[in-house]
Amino acid sequence: MIIVLEPKIKKSEYEELLSYINNYKLTIHTSQGDNHIILGLVGDTSRIDVKDIAGLNGVKDAFRVSESHKLCSRTFHPHDTIIKVGNVQIGGEAIIMIAGPCSVENREMVLDLSDKVYQAGTNILRGGAFKPRSSPYTFQGLGAEGLDYLREAADKHQMPVVSEIMDDHDLDLFCKSVDIIQVGARNMYNYTMLKKLSSVTKPIILKRGLSASIEEWLNSAEYIVSGGNPNVVLCERGFRTFEKTTRFTLDLSSVPVLKKLTHLPVIVDPSHAMGNRNYVLAMTRAAVAAGADGIMIEVHQNPDKALSDGPQSLFPNQFTQLMGEIDLIARAIGRRLHKH
Ligand code: PEP
Ligand code: MN
Repeated sequence: MIIVLEPKIKKSEYEELLSYINNYKLTIHTSQGDNHIILGLVGDTSRIDVKDIAGLNGVKDAFRVSESHKLCSRTFHPHDTIIKVGNVQIGGEAIIMIAGPCSVENREMVLDLSDKVYQAGTNILRGGAFKPRSSPYTFQGLGAEGLDYLREAADKHQMPVVSEIMDDHDLDLFCKSVDIIQVGARNMYNYTMLKKLSSVTKPIILKRGLSASIEEWLNSAEYIVSGGNPNVVLCERGFRTFEKTTRFTLDLSSVPVLKKLTHLPVIVDPSHAMGNRNYVLAMTRAAVAAGADGIMIEVHQNPDKALSDGPQSLFPNQFTQLMGEIDLIARAIGRRLHKH
């Protein structure tokens, strides 16, 4: 249930409202709109009569929201959420770039790549240390050692760093080592993990599941937000269809749809969606034009020798070219690339 307060609600009226709500075991989330404070009631509100609440002094309106992802909804929180990580703001006017290798393969490669992507204008370094691989016989990542190398590489340029968590038992390690925790497509439905991630305040990049509808995806975000962590970024990365010429089908229509439905920042990962570096530039341009708040790209010095996702990884010079092109597109739609 959403309750919109009158701008000049008196303290006594507010207290009366709270004591009314406190009769029902509900959690109250507060959001500041343009002119009004909005309360989101979470829990079983079925015994409350909306008209009773709407009739209280100091209450402008009260209504039920049909979506189950209430706290992620724009109805509850009309303004865009802006998530601050170090000097980077995700979800503001400026579009952010997250780039780096698919996997951290060794210290030297990630240190060198971090220099290259930073010089091209990257804001946040990415790199997998615990890799969700389809085959158990392929490179599984360097684990904690990989996170150390990633941290060192990012610190060289004061860049925040993001890496994927695969097991919620590693949460303490991730909280110590990275600035943003990524939930991969394969774990979007891992509700146990989502609940654990709601107990920290580290920003979470929540990738769209391989077969997830927008509704399911937003419900997964709601697990994190309703548990107490409001810092969720949604990452579109394509889903599985009958089409085999690309690795997945990149659903760029989710960008404007999400922008309408939710206040959370939305970024796009064209690398995993396309699975082929030849298509990454075109889909990055399209993602920026569609209104994405950020882009995540895989880059490798020598993609043919990469231990994971070589075919979709850009060469560093291709990445530099891409950065120049999307800056023009960002400006054409009244935005710009985030400076570091
Ligand atoms: C990744 O970003 O390294 C990754 C494995 O992505 P996804 O979960 O989208 O497949
Ligand atoms: Mn990858």
